[in-house]
Amino acid sequence: MRVGCPKEIKNHEYRVGLTPASAREYVAHGHEVLVETGAGIGIGADDNAYRAAGAHIAATAEEVYARSDMIVKVKEPQPGEWAQLHEGQILYTYLHLAPDPAQAKGLLASGVTAVAYETVTDERGGLPLLAPMSEVAGRLAIQAGATALQKPNGGRGVLLGGVPGVAPGKVTVLGGGVVGLQAARIAAGLGADVTIIDRSIPRLRQLDDLFNGRVHTRFSTVEALEEECFSADMVVGAVLIPGAAAPKLVSREMLSGMKNGAVLVDVAIDQGGCFETSHPTTHAEPTYEVDGVIHYCVANMPGAVPVTSTHALNNATLHHGLQLADKGLKAILDDPHLRNGLNLHKGRITNAAVAEALGYEM
Ligand code: NAD
Repeated sequence: MRVGCPKEIKNHEYRVGLTPASAREYVAHGHEVLVETGAGIGIGADDNAYRAAGAHIAATAEEVYARSDMIVKVKEPQPGEWAQLHEGQILYTYLHLAPDPAQAKGLLASGVTAVAYETVTDERGGLPLLAPMSEVAGRLAIQAGATALQKPNGGRGVLLGGVPGVAPGKVTVLGGGVVGLQAARIAAGLGADVTIIDRSIPRLRQLDDLFNGRVHTRFSTVEALEEECFSADMVVGAVLIPGAAAPKLVSREMLSGMKNGAVLVDVAIDQGGCFETSHPTTHAEPTYEVDGVIHYCVANMPGAVPVTSTHALNNATLHHGLQLADKGLKAILDDPHLRNGLNLHKGRITNAAVAEALGYEM
């Protein structure tokens, strides 16, 4: 099969679908790899790195789309890319189709067979191609929040780790899933006083075991939320109810009970955010202030660290990608988890949740 990797064109997107190491794996499986010139620049991989891996370099995205049997990307295709895809071609990327009817229409018209990273499942019911980006966002949340907490950046001027003789900063993490665990781990590593709030008791039990008392856990009630948010220097929003908008756990009214200059990092902003006062921000202007509380609500946090994010993503996508390249559509028939990733085929929506969200018949 000829596997193509175009350069990402979404605003401020520096990740790339294939690293040179992944290209080498496809070549080792007997496939031809075609990479658009400059596709890896954002992660420091030039054309020669791909050539050394056995890939060919295409001068334009058009050439990659026209000549490839399978396209491997990171972000959903942009409007100019929809028409370049064609029937009989496999698209393997993040799609997030449910809230995006225009993209669904554009891709359905192309007839492409699309496997969306975010709906591929695993045997434990997890989303293995989504998890690495949650890990990145969770760890990054503390770095971003710690920066925002500094006085020149509008924060209250607290060092998370404290110093000998001075108490550390207090971090409250709402939701102890993938994002929450990684945020808590980094905050605790910096020496902060960390509390995780979750509504799942089995999960709180797991977290308690994992941190061995180093991090506090609390069951999610309004009282716990108020106590832990009012005393916090930083609150990380990391709740998720799959398929639904994030619950608004912190109301505008609650902000007045918080410390002046405290920081809210709303990682759940891609699902609408879990603070009433959140709205999406960008890496160019990541924060704003409401009632004395600093909000950081960047919707594509992993994009700030494309080197780490691309390698983490490739680690997760390579196995299924190779299956698709080796076996074509049979890979989807053979593997129910990859089947869950199939969103579009020959002008039809093939994922029940996506079809329902968009109001299409399956
Ligand atoms: P997850 O499913 O692993 O964890 C979510 C946790 O929230 C679960 O443990 C669940 O029990 C808990 N929860 C749900 N409702 C709750 C409530 N009312 N009170 C307390 N806890 C509650 O999800 P995840 O992978 O950690 O993702 C969290 C969010 O981060 C998602 O919205 C995801 O899309 C988002 N995310 C954003 C970015 C970004 O760049 N902004 C990147 C990656 C992930």
